[in-house]
Amino acid sequence: MSEEIIKINSLSFKYNEDEENVLNDITLSVTKGSWVSIVGHNGSGKSTLAKFLIGLLIPSQSNTVVIGGYDTFDEELIWEVRKKAGMVFQNPENQMVATTVRDDIAFGLENIGIERTEMLDRIEWSLKKVKMEQYVDHEPHRLSGGQKQRVAIAGIIAMHPSVLILDEATSMLDPMGRQEVLETVRMLNKDEGMTIINITHDLEETIFSDQIVVMNRGKIYAKGLPEQVFQEKDRLVESGLELPFSLDVQTRLVDKGIGLTKLCLTKEGLVNELW
Ligand code: ADP
Repeated sequence: MSEEIIKINSLSFKYNEDEENVLNDITLSVTKGSWVSIVGHNGSGKSTLAKFLIGLLIPSQSNTVVIGGYDTFDEELIWEVRKKAGMVFQNPENQMVATTVRDDIAFGLENIGIERTEMLDRIEWSLKKVKMEQYVDHEPHRLSGGQKQRVAIAGIIAMHPSVLILDEATSMLDPMGRQEVLETVRMLNKDEGMTIINITHDLEETIFSDQIVVMNRGKIYAKGLPEQVFQEKDRLVESGLELPFSLDVQTRLVDKGIGLTKLCLTKEGLVNELW
């Protein structure tokens, strides 16, 4: 049976007592090695949910958020939880702290007390994984956006987390940078078996997912395989999301009786099937 790495059980949360819940009764299970996309318009609660996954927010009850077997309710174990999940943020500039790529990755490793020889091994290994090994002596600020995000990913995977969380990590990148980052993440998922949580407002990125979770006003509005969620296109549009361009065009053509085929989103990509 597949191992469950994240379990969220009826999680509700509000930042301020006198305001509405930002998360409402969220229940979610993530299988080890899977790719989960969390989508939703701005303000739907995606980043707040991510804060629970990396132990920045702590639930008020036990067994509500469990990561890699650790109950995040237990503040004494919170450092163990934080080692389990690493997050890459939206703005690559804000994640660079050192003057060389090597030192940038070393910074996180020093913080968790990794000794020097192992540190150098991990830097080499992680840069190879994101195909940035030739930039080890480069200044991070001179890299392109996509390269910076790949270095940020290297810095996270060097700490050997079980789960890699991307919070709108491609939204500030040009199409090429975005492609580079998605390919890197796909490889980490397929070849290294790393569990991926990709938080995005871009449905195009959900194509490789094993599970899409659609959030709307702090609730899970729909969840399932891409082919299931995209069957309910109207619900996606209702929740404020834009359909991927190619799917949108095809849907409009078919609605007008012009299209002869339907476009299906599968793990292999966009596939044309006879209508
Ligand atoms: P998303 O990531 O989907 O854009 P967020 O989780 O960032 O959504 O925000 C959900 C809601 O919580 C929004 O209404 C936002 O204004 C509110 N919010 C987010 N962070 C805070 C905070 N630190 N304090 C108070 N309200 C917040």
